[in-house]
Amino acid sequence: MFSERQRLDALYAIVKTMRNQDANPRTVLQTALTMTGQAIGVQHGCVVTFRKDDRVDDILAMKSAEPEAERKLWLRLISRGLIGFVHHSRRLIVVRDISTDPRWPRLEENDAVPQSGSAIGLPMEKNGYMYGVLVLIHPQVDHFSEEIIEWLASVVDTISAVIGSAVVLNATPKDEGHYRWLFEDAVMPIIITDLDGYIVDANRRACEMLRYKRQDLLKLPISAIHRMGTGPIGANRFESLQMGHEVEFRSTAWPSEGGDIPVTVRARRVFFDDYDVIAWVEQDISAQMELDQLRQDLTAMVYHDLRGPLHTVYSSLSTLGRLLTNSTQPAVQDLLQVGIRSTRQLSRMIESLLDIQRLEEGKAVLDPKPTSVHSLLANAAQLVQPLASESRQKLIFNMLEELPFITCDADMILRVVTNLMENAVKYSPMGGTIKLGAERSSEGIRIVVSDSGPGIPKHMQRQIFDKFSRVKYKDAPKGLGLGLAFCRLAVEAHGGTIWVESEPGEGSAFIFTLPVDEKAEPVRV
Ligand code: ADP
Repeated sequence: MFSERQRLDALYAIVKTMRNQDANPRTVLQTALTMTGQAIGVQHGCVVTFRKDDRVDDILAMKSAEPEAERKLWLRLISRGLIGFVHHSRRLIVVRDISTDPRWPRLEENDAVPQSGSAIGLPMEKNGYMYGVLVLIHPQVDHFSEEIIEWLASVVDTISAVIGSAVVLNATPKDEGHYRWLFEDAVMPIIITDLDGYIVDANRRACEMLRYKRQDLLKLPISAIHRMGTGPIGANRFESLQMGHEVEFRSTAWPSEGGDIPVTVRARRVFFDDYDVIAWVEQDISAQMELDQLRQDLTAMVYHDLRGPLHTVYSSLSTLGRLLTNSTQPAVQDLLQVGIRSTRQLSRMIESLLDIQRLEEGKAVLDPKPTSVHSLLANAAQLVQPLASESRQKLIFNMLEELPFITCDADMILRVVTNLMENAVKYSPMGGTIKLGAERSSEGIRIVVSDSGPGIPKHMQRQIFDKFSRVKYKDAPKGLGLGLAFCRLAVEAHGGTIWVESEPGEGSAFIFTLPVDEKAEPVRV
């Protein structure tokens, strides 16, 4: 049917035609496809070309009566059929009978699209880059004999030899133009290095930020323009990047002139302009850091400046209380006490807000001293008692054991306990019971504040220790959601843990532990 002579003639005709054409790879491929089809009597076939990122670049099909229906077939063969298999396995695949082979999709009845016969898919490669797949369909089952397969393979080799470089080279300027534009005009500074970290390119924003001319940046190691950071990936950063992981870290960039610039660096291995490289996106975060600092300074200042006047109100009210001890009006003392209590509460809140800020910045506990747990808890109970009495709640103080001393910032831990107790009062109904207890435990000492409130749903039991986190109860008392965040930070800064045990409807028990100062004397209570 197809003699050695005919095969050679056909191949020669294909090469000659391709050579005589302009260098446009698409026209060349189209001609090669048509001629190959004609030589072996095939009416349906296509060449699908792929980009470097494996996405489909183009579909070139043989002339067809129903191009739209046929295109649907090609698309399905790409996504889950023969073309996809060839592309991923990079192997030549023959489908001997398309009516039974699972690699062949079932399509709606359509005369233009073959439903029976055989098919072949051939990978088209050049220098290890698979730029396309050639597919041909013949109406006869088992049409692609060894001879034809061999011939087609040599046709594909020849096509690749003649135009392979044209496809790769011609595709590059198009892609390059596309990426160049994105790269050059990107709002973020981007630096490209080779896999060893030597700079091979930098976009306009990077040159502006670093105050370098592009040519002066080239060949410098990336470590010459910013600190590589000491995060967990540390020294293995390049290894990690080479393995394809994305790395992100905060760092300091060193411009050629002017001060250091705080940056967030995100780096990843990419294909760019045909090269296997690392792209480093450097975000200047100095404005954001300045703003953060300003906000922190401002809040610290506000809290700090509130303390002074509040202290004056407190001492004025206390003095007034002493001056008016003989007042005949019983309401006078009551009102004074309410004023004093509220002022104290306000000042505790301000202290806690200041502490949240300090502890979040990772600063150490201010004033650690050996402290008696018993007197600390008694003090807290005394502070909260008036609030509980107002709601006719019973306060049970439960501490029968010998308790050791703890080393802590007593004022801070006192605020933790009063915070928990005030919450217990706030969330328990009129006439409820609040218990305060302490015991030795394997962790050191364990302090428990339990109440007869509504309880806390399981899914909120961790969250409530985050800032501004609140459970949505019906008629819930007002609050900011900062108290428990302060408690967690304060307890953790002392080396302890805090959690809640609760069943909805059955009250809650807030528990925290603190390590014990083993050298200190035990105290009998
Ligand atoms: P605030 O009480 O100001 O809202 P907190 O941080 O002290 O802030 O508490 C956070 C949330 O946890 C509260 O809004 C409330 O929903 C819940 N919560 C705290 N303590 C209790 C408690 N004893 N019983 C029930 N819910 C509580």
